[in-house]
Amino acid sequence: MRGAVRQNVPLAPLTHLRIGGPADWFLEPYAEEDVALAVRVCRELDVPLRVLGGGSNIVVADGGVRGVVLSLASLNRIVRDDARITAGAGVTLPSLLRATKDVGLAGLERLTGIPAVVGGAVAMNAGTRDGETFDRLVSLTLVETDGSIEVRGRDRFDATYRDGRLRGAIAVQATFQLEPDDPKAIFERFSTSLKKRNATQPVSQRSVGCVFRNPAGDAAGRLIEAAGCKTLRIGGLEVSGLHANYFVHHGAGSAAEFLALMHEVQRRVRAESGVELEPEVKFWGF
Ligand SMILES: Cc1cc2nc3c(=O)[nH]c(=O)nc-3n(C[C@H](O)[C@H](O)[C@H](O)COP(=O)(O)OP(=O)(O)OC[C@H]3O[C@@H](n4cnc5c(N)ncnc54)[C@H](O)[C@@H]3O)c2cc1C
Repeated sequence: MRGAVRQNVPLAPLTHLRIGGPADWFLEPYAEEDVALAVRVCRELDVPLRVLGGGSNIVVADGGVRGVVLSLASLNRIVRDDARITAGAGVTLPSLLRATKDVGLAGLERLTGIPAVVGGAVAMNAGTRDGETFDRLVSLTLVETDGSIEVRGRDRFDATYRDGRLRGAIAVQATFQLEPDDPKAIFERFSTSLKKRNATQPVSQRSVGCVFRNPAGDAAGRLIEAAGCKTLRIGGLEVSGLHANYFVHHGAGSAAEFLALMHEVQRRVRAESGVELEPEVKFWGF
């Protein structure tokens, strides 16, 4: 495999929450064929494999994770074909949004402010009230669980709310259909969304974004607030006073504390409203 292979790599600095232990093995493949080879080798050796995106939706266990963590940061090319943009899984959404704005292509503004990379945004079908990643997706290049590489059209996915339903496949490249627009108008839409986000979410603090999925017809944040959990704190983790579905990490916190806070919030919401909140965040190594 072409790319870096390292052992015992701390994962906390690679996540937004800044919590958790090391990965036994950390691989940074150069290209999609190298990702495919890594998948085949892990499968043959029966070693667990996880894919790290921007690390914005992951809580890593304090003891870290066994097996292999793959970073696709080297898959960072953006290619334009008229109003179609193809981006590698490691391209950050902010840089993709900037690039599309600069060439006057609109349609991804709905993803403004999401601190993901393309692969993670697709895997989670990240989105906002304005729309989701799959809305503009034309096709995905995937490394399947058997290590084969396949290009699948949008119609071959059944993506749903915050789940791209990749079923264990690894997204290595995504193509989006956009539409020409004035860069100034696109920029205005970015700015408006960002201002709104900055005013309503604790974006400058360490977090995983929304901890829980919104239950049908309701908002997890509203339920958590109604259960009196705003500013509830366990160790270094606190339910944000700005947006109750965010847990902020004040430093020196642990994954165990995150989990304890999550269970306490679930318990209080269940007692108050009878709703069972379901985590949106992914737990690694628990
Ligand atoms: C401040 C803040 C604000 C946020 N706001 C939003 C928001 O508005 N809307 C929203 O939807 N989310 C939001 N999030 C959550 C998060 O950004 C999304 O869930 C995002 O999709 C995660 O992408 P990532 O690249 O960081 O993936 P990671 O967190 O690294 O990984 C998330 C999951 O995707 C898998 N994955 C990553 N890359 C790939 C790949 N290439 N192929 C297959 N699987 C992969 C991982 O294995 C993991 O299971 C926010 C988070 C933060 C910290």
